[in-house]
Amino acid sequence: MTDRRTRIASALESVRERLGRACAAADRDPGTVQLLPVTKFFPVSDARILYDLGCREFGESRDQEASAKAADLAELTAGERTSAADDVRWHMIGSVQRKKARSIARWADVVHSVDGEPLVAALSRAAVAALGAGERSEPLRVLLQVSLDDDPKRGGVPVPEVRRLCELAAAAEGLTLAGLMAVPPLDADPDAAFATLAATHRDVLRDHPDARMLSAGMTADLEIAVRHGSTCVRVGTALLGSRPIASK
Ligand SMILES: *Cc1c(COP(=O)(O)O)cnc(C)c1O
Repeated sequence: MTDRRTRIASALESVRERLGRACAAADRDPGTVQLLPVTKFFPVSDARILYDLGCREFGESRDQEASAKAADLAELTAGERTSAADDVRWHMIGSVQRKKARSIARWADVVHSVDGEPLVAALSRAAVAALGAGERSEPLRVLLQVSLDDDPKRGGVPVPEVRRLCELAAAAEGLTLAGLMAVPPLDADPDAAFATLAATHRDVLRDHPDARMLSAGMTADLEIAVRHGSTCVRVGTALLGSRPIASK
């Protein structure tokens, strides 16, 4: 084993233990919370190591980087994939430019960061085109990103608009409304922010019982997110180390 492999294996083990303890403390079944490794800014060789360690889903935040990495990992693992369970699924977790929708619909299984009507429309058109072209076989799953501080510049849908946008996403051709996502504001109390998110999710589930996914929690706050019902923690730093500053 190379040093990098040893280091990532031990970090993955620690994060899995941490997540297990968080689930136990919240009295939740650990099988209900997905650990999504975030590989942005790290080379495909790291994704390959995580793949060898059993990971099959990865989070990325930039279209160009992700589409290249997805293609490279598919090529690296082509000879080893013996069943559909070995197929890799990629999650777009960063903010999405509408002009990138068509590309994202080629490589992403899930988009976590849908935050407005124009983006819903663009992703719907893109997914329909990708399905028609045989570039994907399933609808694009989307999560609405909820804004937990009322600053429109930071991305996300304000809570009062979530319901209407859920209706639009659920009705959009080529898309499946899978749930909600949020990143707590830097200066906010994550406990209060995740409580608001959980309450918003409960409202959405009344009308959309299949929108069960709640993408919340990162390296710094995964325990708090698990306590508030997260079903998917997006973890980068704790697995792969720190990224260049100002990464998003
Ligand atoms: C980069 C990123 C993460 C990973 O954050 P870490 O603190 O490194 O675990 C999670 N979610 C989003 C939306 C990100 O952009």
